[in-house]
Amino acid sequence: MPNAYDSGVSAHASEPSASERREALKEVYAQTQRCVRCAELAATRKTVVFGAGNADAELMFVGEAPGASEDEQGVPFVGQAGKLLEKLLGEIGMARKEVWICNVLKCRPPANRDPQPVEIESCKEYLYRQVELIQPCVICTLGNFSTKLLREDPAGITRVHGQPQVLTLGRRAVRLYPILHPAAALYTPRMLETLREDFARLPQLLAQGAPAQPEWEPDEVDLAEIRRDARAGEGGATGAVGATGAPDTAERDQMGLF
Ligand code: URA
Repeated sequence: MPNAYDSGVSAHASEPSASERREALKEVYAQTQRCVRCAELAATRKTVVFGAGNADAELMFVGEAPGASEDEQGVPFVGQAGKLLEKLLGEIGMARKEVWICNVLKCRPPANRDPQPVEIESCKEYLYRQVELIQPCVICTLGNFSTKLLREDPAGITRVHGQPQVLTLGRRAVRLYPILHPAAALYTPRMLETLREDFARLPQLLAQGAPAQPEWEPDEVDLAEIRRDARAGEGGATGAVGATGAPDTAERDQMGLF
């Protein structure tokens, strides 16, 4: 359905409109809510923490996994690390509601243990779908887990932080920008300084816009899939995906943004 921020008509008939992408994202949200791919996580979680923010964001943050507060509230980065993230965003003139924030894992690992390789593998499809549907220009990976996953490289965050690179994730080319995880900077002033310096370079990276996209024309099957999900999202998903100018007030405020 057309809404306040999108006429509902895509620039090219072969490209999904922002409205269709948003509705399809709601369907992915609904799929995650019933996900039981990781038996232990499905049995111990309180909520599935899909992600939150602007469904048409230019900037996406990818953390590690929900902690206790996130699991309780169903919203990512609501604890101390999240407060620092919001503060650093404010320092570059941005607000949380403008960006998309999510994690590698959508469920909290018991006792905040590290995500297991098999869990990362099982959950990564949801992250790739988020990238495909939100179409961010810049993805900031926060810490080791998301950086290693999206760079497909074991190099650690202390080596690669602050170095942007163009990467193709699924069908989207993005500017990947690894930075330290805010939780690591909470009690270590030197790390906070490094994180702040890396944050300060974000506006100029965003100003570069999206990188050239790979030669990919969505075929009928791809489009049909997105539009099928979009229709399902319109009719079925109970979770709201916040998008600037288009709050879903009638839906459950899982994203907790507006
Ligand atoms: N740390 C993360 O990586 N994600 C959250 O949502 C909260 C803390």
